Amino acid sequence: MSLVVGCPRCRGVVTEHQQEWACVDHGPTPPLWRPGEASYESFTAHLGAAGTFPTYVPWPMGPDWQVSDFAVVGASPEQACATMACTSGTSRLDGPVDVFVVTEEAGTGLGSRVAGTGGRDPGPEVRDGTPVARVRLGRTAVPLWVVSAGRTDEEFDRFVVVGEAEGRWLWIVLRPASAVLLLRDEWILRDLSGLGPLLVDTRFGGPRPPW
Ligand SMILES: [Zn+2]
Repeated sequence: MSLVVGCPRCRGVVTEHQQEWACVDHGPTPPLWRPGEASYESFTAHLGAAGTFPTYVPWPMGPDWQVSDFAVVGASPEQACATMACTSGTSRLDGPVDVFVVTEEAGTGLGSRVAGTGGRDPGPEVRDGTPVARVRLGRTAVPLWVVSAGRTDEEFDRFVVVGEAEGRWLWIVLRPASAVLLLRDEWILRDLSGLGPLLVDTRFGGPRPPW
């Protein structure tokens, strides 16, 4: 498989013993699988590892945008509990922009790692006050609330919103943070696992964003 194994919550090494995975820092954990490089071939392996679990990207993708990174968490396709996809392109105001979309079961911790918020789940900001944006997932409009990113160093210059969809956390992380203005329009999220033959037209590659 063209995917590399790691920990959902950190860049540490994971080991496997009798199909139980463990991170040196976080102990027992389902493994995270990510590509050596983002390509059509490695994304096909990703979809195989994700089983029926969705992988969302903003849709349609702009003409100069591409899928620059992705990941799935789970020891087997039947046990998939989180996915992440990052699309990267440019906006007139912000220059290069990365948009991460993470959907995960509660307690997985991949979203908070990508967001830099710490812990495994978003805090009490979610559902508190007025949502800052909405995205469309099928026929559902999913409200999203701002979650403050704990880290402020340049690598973590990002804007984080979280909501709940289909019983899972839905995280959207924009880098740089100023790209939040892109969220003014109500985005549509599309599950790339349901794209079928159109996936051939999707662009993969570009510099991989840090997370
Ligand atoms: Zn770890």
